[in-house]
Amino acid sequence: MASRVRTGPAAAAKTRADELAVLGGRPAFAEPLHVGRPNQGDRTRLLARMNELLDRNWLTNDGPLVVEFEQRLARHLGVGHVVATCNATVGLEIAIRALGLTGEVIVPAFTFVATAHALQWQEITPVFADVDPGTHNVDPDAVEALVTDRTSAILAVHLWGRPAPVERLAEIARGHDLRLLYDAAHAFGVSTGGRRVGGFGDAEVFSFHATKVLNSFEGGAVATNDGELAARMRLMRNFGFGGVDNVIHVGTNGKMTEVCAAMGLTSLEAVEHFVAVNETNHRDYADAFGAVTGVDVLDQQAGPGERRNFHYVVAEVDDAAVGLTRDEICAVLTAEGVLARRYFTPGVHRMEPYRSLADCQRSPLPHTEALSERVLVLPNGVAVGRQHIETIARIVGLAVGEPERVRDAVALSAGAS
Ligand SMILES: *Cc1c(COP(=O)(O)O)cnc(C)c1O
Repeated sequence: MASRVRTGPAAAAKTRADELAVLGGRPAFAEPLHVGRPNQGDRTRLLARMNELLDRNWLTNDGPLVVEFEQRLARHLGVGHVVATCNATVGLEIAIRALGLTGEVIVPAFTFVATAHALQWQEITPVFADVDPGTHNVDPDAVEALVTDRTSAILAVHLWGRPAPVERLAEIARGHDLRLLYDAAHAFGVSTGGRRVGGFGDAEVFSFHATKVLNSFEGGAVATNDGELAARMRLMRNFGFGGVDNVIHVGTNGKMTEVCAAMGLTSLEAVEHFVAVNETNHRDYADAFGAVTGVDVLDQQAGPGERRNFHYVVAEVDDAAVGLTRDEICAVLTAEGVLARRYFTPGVHRMEPYRSLADCQRSPLPHTEALSERVLVLPNGVAVGRQHIETIARIVGLAVGEPERVRDAVALSAGAS
């Protein structure tokens, strides 16, 4: 059983707009509620593993816990090979290099900046494709329109743990002789078409950062069914060492430590519980926000053959219907101690160095632009429960009922700080 992370004191129920913190009331949450507060598994199991690894005094370099974590992940994902790494960013860098990518790689701009950085770090140009406004995932038609003779690959993201359009992307990659790599940082425990994410494309890269559904403090893993690719990535992960004193390949230090594997294994044992809590929370959010017109919780209904991990509760704010912008609602929540996040604002194409690089921006990205103004990610995970969720929805509902007062108060507090 997973230990319950201590949650803050019960949230104060609010019934009138006057009680909103932004209008001078007391914050509903004395202790802030975060997006991505870490999920912890069974602490006794974790400490037992830490004792064992300290007794063994084998702290890193392909230790037994890393090997066990890789094997269990491969079984869980139904893939041939898993290479654990110190984080997903280095995992992406290693996969990109091991696949021999060059020139241009097509990526969505509506993602975390690491997706593009992993390419740019190796002087490969990320070329940004727009997303589907319904799923927030990269639009395959936009991808295909950007293919040139410099394109070596597509790097797609399973955003929010919603599977990318894997069939269409595979067709495009095949048709243009491109490699296909997935940033699966959000997508542990996700399936589509009856297949687990982990086995699509040439390789898929997971993140086990503390904020992700399954964490190893920091960590990542590359999953692939290509044995040669896996062997190359193992070399690259450890400075290119093919044996003692024998360097046979260029490499980096991408190794996962034993203590991270201990956390990863312990999280893996609790991941079904984390997903179940996320799913319940997600349903509670959808119910609670059902009454708030103009703020929609993104539908995570899984179809046949699909599984979700429900880790990201994504709301879209229609400012015309609500009378307040997404940023104003975010400010209202922040004042209450609800640290909602405006992922991904701005889009990666509006961050440096990409916004100064004309090569990255071949086409306008209207859906990415619109989403980066509308999306709000709400707190989830085992630290969040029904009462928190109802309080959050009530706060937004009260704010939406008095848009002029709230807008003035937010503007005033922004001016004062
Ligand atoms: C978290 C994240 C990463 C980076 O993962 P790290 O393990 O922190 O390096 C990459 N891509 C996406 C989409 C992410 O959310």
